[in-house]
Amino acid sequence: MSQDSDKPGDRKPLTQLAQAGRKPEWTGMPGQPGGIVNPPVWRASTILYDDVAHLRSAAGRSTHERLFYGRKGTPTAWSLADALTEMEPGAEGTMLYPSGVAAIACALMAVLKPGDQLLMADSAYDPTRNFCEQMLRPLGIETVYYDPTLGAGIADLITDATRAIFLESPGSLTFEVQDVPAIAALAREKGIVTLIDNTWATPYFFPALAHGVDISILACTKYIVGHSDVMMGSVTATPAWFPKIRQAAHLFGQMTSPDDAWLAARGLRTLGVRLNQHQASALRIATWLSEQADVARVLHPALPSCPGHALWRRDFSGSSGLFGFVLKGGDEKSRAALIDGLAHFGIGYSWGGFESLALPVDPARYRTATAWQAEGPLVRLQIGLEDPDDLIADLDAGLARFRAARG
Ligand SMILES: *Cc1c(COP(=O)(O)O)cnc(C)c1O
Repeated sequence: MSQDSDKPGDRKPLTQLAQAGRKPEWTGMPGQPGGIVNPPVWRASTILYDDVAHLRSAAGRSTHERLFYGRKGTPTAWSLADALTEMEPGAEGTMLYPSGVAAIACALMAVLKPGDQLLMADSAYDPTRNFCEQMLRPLGIETVYYDPTLGAGIADLITDATRAIFLESPGSLTFEVQDVPAIAALAREKGIVTLIDNTWATPYFFPALAHGVDISILACTKYIVGHSDVMMGSVTATPAWFPKIRQAAHLFGQMTSPDDAWLAARGLRTLGVRLNQHQASALRIATWLSEQADVARVLHPALPSCPGHALWRRDFSGSSGLFGFVLKGGDEKSRAALIDGLAHFGIGYSWGGFESLALPVDPARYRTATAWQAEGPLVRLQIGLEDPDDLIADLDAGLARFRAARG
């Protein structure tokens, strides 16, 4: 929680990233001046109490930010949670989870009960949909999928049972930008809670709570960690919702290891410079791709040709390194010819690390509220921190392979 920082609003995001979560009691030794820069790894299961009275009083108090038992965290995780909270003006606190999917699942379980209805963006990450279908539906919680481009038109889908609206903007596979402020304002007026998967932009480019959302979820696995070596999720919420989020996380026994929290906190310090570079390189490559004859469309919200561009410009302060492009014609085989021969792009799930990745994506397979129509197969790129000239040359050769295979 950020209440101990000096007026966090006075600091710009790059300054916050450098300073947030570094409390003197976590970086110094009692009674000694000075201290270290980064809170260390505090590993713990058992916490030792001074006496029985101390043990009893600890049990009766809120454990967040007080040593109680290892499952409730230690200063390593609290420091990271504090820093993430500070990045989201309007937030009360942040809970950490062993993956992004765990964060999404726990947030949904915290706000929904049997009989409720959930509105879910049709563009959402497919494991999010799987949780709704395979866990929520058997519990009597219905999910209705909506066109992510609806904006305030989502009002037509709201019923007396609608309890929550889940957004993902832009969609991490097809990059539709949602009118987040319009949906959040409408939901708040009707007493419906809004949750957003904010993994693409992170609060660095889009502080979601400041745009009216109640609960902001990150797959920290991606840009927060930034080095493709830790799984983690986070949920940051307003004062009205944070107690429920914290309670559900505790009831489900959700936590992250101090070693992983330490790595994620280390990644967070460079989030700004990394994202600025991901943004510049990805924009250059997206622009180059949009000029290639074999590319039908580039799905990148910062390109004026992208349908969500106006909303992106209004609401976001930047764009990250993940975008897609639709090939002109071709099929599974010619798309594979492009991807398989790439020298500088790994083939793999996840994204947000320092290294570039290419992935075949088939949105038509899981959409239900909208039909995915495209001129050819879709490729998603994560643009890493390599030299963009090398990446462009690699993609150029890939498009030649695609042409040859397509015929
Ligand atoms: C990867 C991802 C997640 C899930 O994160 P994990 O840490 O892999 O569980 C959630 N949402 C989006 C948009 C993602 O890309």
